[in-house]
Order: sequence, then C-alpha cells, then structure tokens
Amino acid sequence: MPAERLMPTTESADLIDLVRDIAGKELRPRVDEAERTGTFPREVFRTLGRTGLLGLPYPEDVGGGGQPYEVYLQVIEEIASAWASVGVGTSVHALSCFGLFHVGTPEQQERWLPEMLGGELLGAYCLSESHAGSDPAAMRTRAVREGDEYVLNGAKAWTTHGGVADFYKVMARTSDDGGRGISCFLVPADTPGLTADNPEQKMGLMGSTTATVLLDDVRVPVERRLGEEGQGLSIALAGLDAGRLGIAAAATGVAQAALDTAVAYAKERETFGRAIIEHQGLAFLLADMAAAVESARATYLAAARLKDLGRPYGRQASIAKLVATDNAMRVTTDAVQVLGGAGYTRDFPVERYMREAKVMQIFEGTNQIQRLVIGRHLAR
Ligand SMILES: Cc1cc2nc3c(=O)[nH]c(=O)nc-3n(C[C@H](O)[C@H](O)[C@H](O)COP(=O)(O)OP(=O)(O)OC[C@H]3O[C@@H](n4cnc5c(N)ncnc54)[C@H](O)[C@@H]3O)c2cc1C
Repeated sequence: MPAERLMPTTESADLIDLVRDIAGKELRPRVDEAERTGTFPREVFRTLGRTGLLGLPYPEDVGGGGQPYEVYLQVIEEIASAWASVGVGTSVHALSCFGLFHVGTPEQQERWLPEMLGGELLGAYCLSESHAGSDPAAMRTRAVREGDEYVLNGAKAWTTHGGVADFYKVMARTSDDGGRGISCFLVPADTPGLTADNPEQKMGLMGSTTATVLLDDVRVPVERRLGEEGQGLSIALAGLDAGRLGIAAAATGVAQAALDTAVAYAKERETFGRAIIEHQGLAFLLADMAAAVESARATYLAAARLKDLGRPYGRQASIAKLVATDNAMRVTTDAVQVLGGAGYTRDFPVERYMREAKVMQIFEGTNQIQRLVIGRHLAR
C-alpha cells in the first residue's frame, strides 16, 4: 500500500505519481537481479536524470527542478522504497552538487551546474579516507598548488559511485592547519591520474558501487577549486546536513517497503486457523512498525520544512538521520520476524531490506556521530 502523503501542491502530488510510475516500470523489475549480481544501474540514473529527478532540490534557472526539500525528500523515499541503492545514489548525487551551488562563483555555476543537475553527469562525494571517517579533519590527501593548478595525491575511501561517476567532489588538504587546512575541488572522472580501486564487497546495497578513489598526481586547474582555500571541510559538512536528510528519507522508504511486505504476508499466512495478523501479539508488532515508519517520516519532514524556510536545521537533520535509520533497522528486523522462516530466505525481500537499513546507521556520519552533533547543539 503506498504511503499516504500530504503534498503541499498539486504539482508535487503529480510528481509523486510520476515517481511511483517510474518506480513500477524502471526500478522494481530490475532490483532483485541487480542487487544479487552487484550490477550498478547506470541507465536507471540516466532515466532519472532525463526526467529531472537528479536535480530536484536546486533552482530551475541553474538546471534543477525547483522543488522544496519537503517534496524532494519524499521523492527520495519513494525511490528508495522501490530500490534503496538508487535512492541513496540520487541523494549522493545531490550532495556532490551542493558545494558548487552554494559557494561556486557565477562563472563556475554557469559552466558546470546545468550539466550536473541535468542528469547527464553522475556525481560522487569524496570526504572519507581509510583512517579518517568519523574524523574527516584527520585526512591526508594533499592538494599542492603549482602555478594555475593543484596537484592532488592520496586515496579517498568508501566513495559511493567510485569508478562509475562522471565527476568527483574531492576534499583534500592544502595546509597542515587541521580542519581549516582542507579545500574542495570538482574533478572530472577522466582527469589523468584519477582511478578507482576494486569495488568493496559489501553486506548490502550491492547495486551501489562503493570504491576507493586513487589520486596519483591529478592536476586540477585553480578554477575547479570550490570556495576559498581552507573552506573545504565546512563546505563538506554543510552538504552533509542536507545529505543526512536524504539518508533519513531513504531509510524511511526501506522501512515502508518492509512494513508493506510484512502486512501483506501477515494477511495471507495462517496459523492456528486464522491469519497471523489476527493474533494480537503479531498485530502489535506490526502496529509498532507502522508507528516507527510514520514517526521517521514526520521527523525528516519537520527538518525539511526548517531548511525550506531558510532556518538552521543541522540539529534536526542529525535527529532525523538518527531516528529514521534506527527505526528502519528495527522495522526491517521485525519484518523478517513477521515472515518467520520465509523472512530469512531470499524468496522475499525483507532480508535485503535489513541489510540495507544497517549501512544507513553508518554512512553520512554514524549514529554515534549524530548523537555527538545533537549533544553539542544541546550544550551550546
Ligand atoms: C556503503 C558505504 C558508502 C559510503 N559512501 C561514502 C561516500 O560516498 N563518501 C564518503 O566520503 N564516505 C562514504 N562512506 C564512509 C562513511 O561515511 C564512513 O564509513 C563513516 O563516516 C564512518 O567512518 P569509519 O568507517 O572510518 O568508522 P570510524 O570512524 O572508524 O568509527 C568506528 C566506530 O567508532 C565510532 N566512533 C568514532 N568516533 C566516535 C566518537 N567520537 N564517539 C563515539 N563513537 C565514535 C563510530 O560510530 C563507529 O561505530 C561510505 C561508507 C559506506 C559503508
């Protein structure tokens, strides 16, 4: 059963219908096979791009869809409920455009934003390194200025779309001044010296390629630096506030899919002469799952509305990410329980949902880091 949504305009309600249509025709028929074989669905992202879904939260005059976050996130949720890897990828693409949109010069924006937001080009966001995940200020990748160019050397770990993206937003160290010594660069995939290692063999999200991006004397012209030297970490972290909302929405989509599968199964499956949903013990489990999904959605929408009003929303973004991904983990685990032995097999998607929910508690800041961010806000 599709989630009940109160969209702010008729146009946005039509957009949700369009996304459901695309999910039914382009995503659901492909998801099982691609997730089993670990195939990255590049053509699906091309379809989303051409339909305008990859640039939704950016203004129309720079090639985006001009949608508020309240709408954009519900689109991410719908996509992720059909295919988590694609929902996450859509959010990561938006994250990789964030710096150019917010701190790019008018010349930089005019030159690159339309093609990035138009969806022909797919983006990746390179902040983490193998020893610098929760603590990105510990990064070692260097960008050394030589005349009108920077020369980048290092390895950016865990890059979603590593090896399949068309451009990389790379954070690299331009001085030894800790978090203030990091700068941000927009690097096209075909730049000599940029390669990707073999993809990680992950527990889930097999359709989303994750790889270390290797930078070996990669020459980047000065005009591809975003913002000032030393501004890179703050650009990266500001983007993460928005990105965390995308992950909260994706997690809610996965949880909604798990709930739908569990309810449908519970109405069919009989024990002791009645459908299992008629047993109060099981109906209560389903009721808690439904409450967890709806409260996750309400939490990310509350944060999105603050963002849409131009108000600070960092604390609420961390709360949304924490609540939605912890709820998704619980809901997907309980969905496996509702299906009993069948839930533990690959005959049903709930075991996959459970594996997908797990990583959402880890990336874009682990849920321990979200608690740290929320705690710091409370201490101010
Ligand atoms: C599938 C996948 C895709 C990813 N995609 C991207 C991407 O596109 N771009 C990118 O830049 N990164 C990406 N990441 C990296 C991701 O953001 C990091 O894995 C994450 O930030 C955690 O870093 P870490 O793995 O180094 O864990 P660590 O930082 O080593 O943490 C290990 C454990 O210690 C806990 N911990 C650490 N510090 C504290 C603290 N101060 N207080 C309490 N607990 C703490 C953590 O919560 C965690 O449980 C991806 C990761 C995965 C798995």
